[in-house]
Amino acid sequence: MKSEVLHVEFDNVTMEEAVDRAIELINEDGFKYAVTPNPEIVWLCRKDEELREAVSSAALVIPDGIGVIYGAKMLKRPLKEKVPGADFAERVISALAAEHKSVFLFGAKPGVAELAAEKLSEKYPGIVIAGTNDGYFSDDEPIIDKINAAKPDLLLVCLGAPKQEKWMKKNADKLSAKLAIGLGGSLDVYAGVVERAPEKWQKMNLEWLYRIVKQPKRIGRAMRLPAFMLAVLGERISGK
Ligand code: UDP
Repeated sequence: MKSEVLHVEFDNVTMEEAVDRAIELINEDGFKYAVTPNPEIVWLCRKDEELREAVSSAALVIPDGIGVIYGAKMLKRPLKEKVPGADFAERVISALAAEHKSVFLFGAKPGVAELAAEKLSEKYPGIVIAGTNDGYFSDDEPIIDKINAAKPDLLLVCLGAPKQEKWMKKNADKLSAKLAIGLGGSLDVYAGVVERAPEKWQKMNLEWLYRIVKQPKRIGRAMRLPAFMLAVLGERISGK
């Protein structure tokens, strides 16, 4: 079932349902991709048609962040729960590890994907690291060739939004992975380069605030959250 928030159609799934769906998609033939929009991405979709199309073509659209959950609630189209992208992908990796399936880590600064690979292999013995590539490149083709030679079950595309969503959509016909997930800065988190908010902050739904405190230069981007909330409020009042 889908629930629409400012013209983005989210899958109304719990974390467990999202992981089950991802595993189903991995077990099916052909390339598919999943996106993890937070309020910032929903906001960007309003003005960026290419991004909107990339998001709406995804096989799975999961609500990353409490802002989307509040927005859906205000619009009376509630979503079951927030499904943070980094946790979601880690759970998928954990399930794949049990079957010795493979993941390719693509994105972040040079060296980060390799470090993330080491950490994930330690944490989930059994996972096969099919390959890694940093996210600073000028030509898609050598990267696509590298991914296709590795034939991963799962491909994490961590280039930040909207680059990662557009990249997956643009190259969908060329990629031979089973499922790709657009995941923003998750490789930095897996590698331990960027610290995740402590559990207490996560439970209080204040992870977004922790990120601003730790990286004040994000404040400009963070202003898209109130803009998103105001747009939700406007839509609720106008009853569109
Ligand atoms: N990045 C990249 N290539 C680029 C631009 C960004 O690989 O051309 C990476 C960047 O190094 C970081 C991630 O994309 O690892 C974006 O992280 P950010 O925290 O902005 O994403 P969020 O999780 O907030 O969506």
